[in-house]
Amino acid sequence: MNPSPSRSWYTRLASRLLFPLHERLKQHHSTPLLEALEQSQWLAPEQLQQLQNQNLRQFIEHLQQHNPYYSALLAERGLDRDSFRTVADLAKLPLLTKTEIRAHQQQLLCDIDGKRIKYNTGGSSGEPLIFYMGMDRVSHDVAAKWRATRWWDVDIGDTEAVIWGSPIELGKQDRIKQWRDRLFRSYLIPAFDLRPERIRAYLEQLVRLRPKMVFGYPSVISQLALAAEQQQIPLSQLGVKVVFTTSEMLYQHQREQIERLFGAPVANGYGARDAGFIAHQCPQGSLHISSEHIVVEILDEQGSPCPPGQEGEIVVTHLATRGFPFVRYRTGDMGTLSDQPCSCGRGLPVLKEVKGRSTDFICATDGAKVHALALIYILREINGIEQFKIIQHQDDMTEVQIRTNSQFSQAALETISKAMQQRLGSDMKIRISEVEQFETGSNGKFRYVEDRRTPAPKVPEPATHASESTV
Ligand SMILES: [Zn+2]
Repeated sequence: MNPSPSRSWYTRLASRLLFPLHERLKQHHSTPLLEALEQSQWLAPEQLQQLQNQNLRQFIEHLQQHNPYYSALLAERGLDRDSFRTVADLAKLPLLTKTEIRAHQQQLLCDIDGKRIKYNTGGSSGEPLIFYMGMDRVSHDVAAKWRATRWWDVDIGDTEAVIWGSPIELGKQDRIKQWRDRLFRSYLIPAFDLRPERIRAYLEQLVRLRPKMVFGYPSVISQLALAAEQQQIPLSQLGVKVVFTTSEMLYQHQREQIERLFGAPVANGYGARDAGFIAHQCPQGSLHISSEHIVVEILDEQGSPCPPGQEGEIVVTHLATRGFPFVRYRTGDMGTLSDQPCSCGRGLPVLKEVKGRSTDFICATDGAKVHALALIYILREINGIEQFKIIQHQDDMTEVQIRTNSQFSQAALETISKAMQQRLGSDMKIRISEVEQFETGSNGKFRYVEDRRTPAPKVPEPATHASESTV
């Protein structure tokens, strides 16, 4: 879809001149990539398949030449680029887990020049992960996001409100980012603190901005929308054209609430820092995979491919990860492929359903709901924590389970406790337990945040907490 002629002069300037210039300065090649992606999305499914196979072979060749981990693996198995005729041949390579990435971090770095950004993410499993992103990969992810944004008749440069469930701490880098965001009219509303008076301030900011698009976690956006309804703030009159949701499971009731209260469609995206920009919803409702450079496999418990319509684990190969490869990366998310073409006419394959990205809230002692990510950020910053889980047992007692390594310092216990109380209330008791083994749910999945309070009415607590080893 081309940008509509009614688009403001500033949006045209931003999208056609400022953003391409910005991308060039950052050594990204997202502008020519976007042009290519805007063409290739209309190819027939078979042609897209061929393009993907071709990109896979080039990627394998690159790994053979530049990646210590995969060149050894390919040699050991007697494989080269010609062993990969189609993406089904990816099954000749092992699955990649976070544990593997941690164990082979150095060998997974390609020996190529160019800028690389180091990332540290908690991921959806609560296991912190350090990895690197080369400019090739960043460019592909930016171009894919830009393309999907245009599907909704909005563009870079249109006013955007980014409602993010994370605290902002402003460093030098962030101030540059703020300046850049202003240039592209993208404004951050850091909605990790959902106390009533804060919600009021976020909503006032939203009303002042009158954004064309809203972007953020569905859980946070739906909470804000409900609060607006209670406070009789008509969000539907702001002129929002689309609400992009990401990073979490989008529940149907959230979609309905957001669409009703904003008076605009919700466009869900599926992706993550680690696995990349995987799929995005089109106006006809299909979640299209950016298949030119993303291969999605759906695997059953034995690791065999599931036919369309059957649910399995989503495993992703990102063909533009030439700096630090993600090959058959296990996302831990469950999903289903569709074999139905989409009525929008794009040949990009469709994910029928994605499950298992629910993040939760923890309830502060004053009743406010605090987004789990605001708590996860605290733990992510601390050295030596290998895995963690946050469990709310009572209204005023939250447990933080951690598995640590030798880099962990006991002094960090107090840091964790204080930071948690800052978010959850100074009278929240924080119990920190060091554990060896984490429990998984009945579906075998790990949840990093759990609310285990019994839904009993609030009664004054007997003095049993006195014996808790609170820190
Ligand atoms: Zn479509």
